[in-house]
Amino acid sequence: MARDHGEYMGRTIGCRRCGRRRGMIRRHGLRLCRQCFRDVGNEIGFKKMN
Ligand SMILES: [Zn+2]
Repeated sequence: MARDHGEYMGRTIGCRRCGRRRGMIRRHGLRLCRQCFRDVGNEIGFKKMN
């Protein structure tokens, strides 16, 4: 069942933008990695979390 990749068609556990599960952030109901979170955060208007 391709468990090695951990990727399912149409069902992504990781970042919904890039699909990675590295550095995931589960805040604000978003499923984004840190990189995408910064990009999307800027678009939406979230403050930087540094
Ligand atoms: Zn991402």
